[in-house]
Amino acid sequence: MEPTSHDFKDNARKALGDDQLQRALGNVRTGFISKRAEARAALPEFDRLRDQARDIKNHSLAHLDLYLEEYERKVTDAGGHVHWAADAPEAREIISDLCLRAGAKSVTKGKSMVAEEIALNQYLEAKGLEVVETDLGEYLIQIRGETPSHIIAPAVHLNMDQIEDDFRRRHTNLPPARILDDPQKLVNEARTILREKFIAADVGITGANFLIAETGSSVIVTNEGNGDLTQILPRVHIVIATIEKIVPTREDAMTILRVLARSATGQEFSTYTTFSTGPKRADDPDGPEEYHVVILDNGRAEMLGTEFRDVLRCIRCGACMNHCPIYHAIGGHAYGWVYPGPIGAVLTPSLIGVEEAGHLPNASTFCGRCEDVCPMRIPLPKMMRKLREQEFEKAASPWMQRAAIRCWAFFARRPRIYRLAVDIFIPVLARFGRKRGALKFLPFAGAWTKYRHLPAPQGQTFQRQWQKRLKRQISQ
Ligand code: SF4
Repeated sequence: MEPTSHDFKDNARKALGDDQLQRALGNVRTGFISKRAEARAALPEFDRLRDQARDIKNHSLAHLDLYLEEYERKVTDAGGHVHWAADAPEAREIISDLCLRAGAKSVTKGKSMVAEEIALNQYLEAKGLEVVETDLGEYLIQIRGETPSHIIAPAVHLNMDQIEDDFRRRHTNLPPARILDDPQKLVNEARTILREKFIAADVGITGANFLIAETGSSVIVTNEGNGDLTQILPRVHIVIATIEKIVPTREDAMTILRVLARSATGQEFSTYTTFSTGPKRADDPDGPEEYHVVILDNGRAEMLGTEFRDVLRCIRCGACMNHCPIYHAIGGHAYGWVYPGPIGAVLTPSLIGVEEAGHLPNASTFCGRCEDVCPMRIPLPKMMRKLREQEFEKAASPWMQRAAIRCWAFFARRPRIYRLAVDIFIPVLARFGRKRGALKFLPFAGAWTKYRHLPAPQGQTFQRQWQKRLKRQISQ
């Protein structure tokens, strides 16, 4: 996917005017939040688990080289292969080579945000492979030619009528007169179509929620079981994962799993949690003949030594976007790349640069809800502030915004001049807004006053009023 993050304002404007999208976002505003709250209330040690999960990831990141090497050894011992990819082109090349070497024609895929990040589907399709997403939400957006609008609910922006239209347009081998008027019928149809794809696939590609150094296992969590069929039925299983997915032990993975589903969907545990270690052994009833893990860096190693290191703790639960008022208003596509919401506002500019995605950290009210609910306690607002600083320093923000910040900094550093300026400015504003009690227009703040009125100042600054009151009290 080509980033359109730089068009954020246009994207957001369109999203705000899209009635269907606004109705769909209502589900995010209510369902996810209440379910997480219930799951949290039912587990008294939830916050303690969050601390443990954070500490596990911090430890893993501090010893990333050791654990990744141990992981590679264990995968090799189990008969699998580890491939290292520095960036997206390298990862795509490795995966397409593996597919072509296997003589593959058809590839099934489990849900993977990293595969979205490297635009894997498009690359494999250009090489002549048929690629089929098997997660229902991913399948729905694949047949529309869209990208996910949410990291755990990729098709959350769609309604049933749109899905029915897409199925009729796409599944032309099925009777046109069939009835598709409820969700179950739509699910059954998707299941029928996907079943054939599962059976025909030569290669299955999945992501990984964790890579476990102790055992050389990759772990995926799903609610549909599609991940299991994707990795068990084809001859070749390829896992694509980024370096920060590593955890030292099975127990560490279990600790983080306990906060993952609760934070994401409010479930105690996802319906399917699958550990894969190497290819099929002689006495295994099923499994792939080949097992490959492609471990991708794509800019993460550089982030390790920076103030953005903490974002590498992210376990892609989606809680931050479920609770974000900006995401609630504009949905995921407006963010213009793979990762939406507060995590996208930090991760996207960290990966593709503030010049390309500097708008995103500005799309925040700084209400702090994202940090409050993040199971990995990632200080997202603090990072957005840092990215805003970088945007300013690199002159990537609009010149008027930079001029306003410089002007503000001038006064903020000189309290006397600041007080003098507000002593002059506040009575003027009070005079203009006296009639209506509010100002409908402010120079250089037209975008703000277009949608809301600024309450008119009372006539004097707070400090002046307070000093007066103090003097009165002393003299009494
Ligand atoms: S930043 Fe936190 S809340 Fe957001 S997806 Fe990552 S782990 Fe979940």
